Amino acid sequence: MKFFTPNSKEELYNFLAEKEKTNDTVEILAGGTSSIGDFALKGIYPNFIVDIKKIEELKEINYKYEEEILSIGSAVTLTEITENDYINDEFEILVDSALEVPSRPIRNMATIGGNLFDPKNSIIAPVLLVAYASVKMRDSNGEITTLSVSEFYSKEYYKKDIKESEDNSIIRNDLLFVESIEIPNKYFNSPAKILRTTEDLNNDYESLVNLVALVTEDNKIRFAESACSDYPLFLGEYSLSLSNDEIFGKILSTNKLVFECARQELDFKKYIFELLEFGRNPDEEIMINSTVDEKMHTFFTTDKKSLFTLFYEEDITETPYVIFNGRVVDTRNIFSIEAKDEHIETIEYLLTFEDSTAYKLFKSLEKYKVSDSKKYLKEIVMLFYEIVRENPILKAEDIKKIVKVVDKDINFDNLLRAIKEYQKENQR
Ligand SMILES: Cc1cc2nc3c(=O)[nH]c(=O)nc-3n(C[C@H](O)[C@H](O)[C@H](O)COP(=O)(O)OP(=O)(O)OC[C@H]3O[C@@H](n4cnc5c(N)ncnc54)[C@H](O)[C@@H]3O)c2cc1C
Repeated sequence: MKFFTPNSKEELYNFLAEKEKTNDTVEILAGGTSSIGDFALKGIYPNFIVDIKKIEELKEINYKYEEEILSIGSAVTLTEITENDYINDEFEILVDSALEVPSRPIRNMATIGGNLFDPKNSIIAPVLLVAYASVKMRDSNGEITTLSVSEFYSKEYYKKDIKESEDNSIIRNDLLFVESIEIPNKYFNSPAKILRTTEDLNNDYESLVNLVALVTEDNKIRFAESACSDYPLFLGEYSLSLSNDEIFGKILSTNKLVFECARQELDFKKYIFELLEFGRNPDEEIMINSTVDEKMHTFFTTDKKSLFTLFYEEDITETPYVIFNGRVVDTRNIFSIEAKDEHIETIEYLLTFEDSTAYKLFKSLEKYKVSDSKKYLKEIVMLFYEIVRENPILKAEDIKKIVKVVDKDINFDNLLRAIKEYQKENQR
């Protein structure tokens, strides 16, 4: 096996053209997160490995204004997708899907191009299918062609093994190269959602169901999936004026789905119905302004989102408790919309003031090693914050009652000591 590392598309294409004249087998190496393991597993290595990581042209994300197309180079990594401002603003569902690959080190390596070649599992393909995206590629005859993602799969371009075509000529899919993914802007900012389950909790790589739905302006819903078929499938576009059962019946009758176990079939059905529910009530984004830690923040939220979820997504605070207009509240019980025009303080902010109740209490909890986790210590401070600020003397059973909600790893005896000491010192 030999390595070839081209620095440009031109070098790459010249190399592939040369290999067309030989019987040498070629394998493209992008992130390597699928293929390196595959080689080792099968024990079969190609004659040439072509590492494309040095080709800068393949790492570009461009919005082409004239064509109204977002073009993503095949060597763009999943992390680059999740961090791209344009994609986050205009086509967030692609970010959501990339984030379904659970491990950051994998996302740092895995490319969008490589993901297309994982047909039973591709996390990205269903999103591309509902958005009617295309694949721009050099086909195995050296022609540059653009074809829909749907055709890419139905015509089996994703199969890397060299195969015979109907007229017995050899098709060298190993010489096929995907340059970029082209996504038209037609469905940008359309409400869309992914639902996915994996084999089991310990295997979050292989999808059992990976379904995506996108709602169009004219009240239709577009579905696509990978995992319940041989390769990713566009499952069709359906008017939301049809009943759920009608739509589900049409999906089953018009698509070749293969369920390998009862759970897969059940989850598939459950998710189609859940996505239909979403399609009928897509969450509209609402903009709110709130003052957090003395600074004005603008948040985009939905009417169903709790304040806890919003603050978690926006990385505002580590605990579920905040001071909301002067009172400690549990953000899990508040809709984010309720924070509109309100004043909120976080524990992280309170801890920046050394003479504050929060800071002194935190130090006392730390001194008595109430928990090894700073996050839990912050949570406990918030639970006691208001009461000890008002200075009542707490009995052991009161303290127990207050921390009952923190069923976390804390040392209760030490907590009693810490609170008592805090109260003694602050009585003086
Ligand atoms: C621990 C772990 C967890 C994972 N979790 C997920 C998951 O949750 N969901 C998921 O979808 N995948 C997952 N994967 C699989 C894998 O990471 C992805 O499919 C990834 O996007 C593959 O991209 P890559 O750049 O690493 O491809 P590579 O491994 O480099 O290549 C994969 C295949 O694609 C071909 N190829 C790559 N780029 C091109 C190109 N431009 N043109 C032609 N052929 C090309 C290669 O020749 C090879 O056959 C996981 C992998 C691991 C190891």
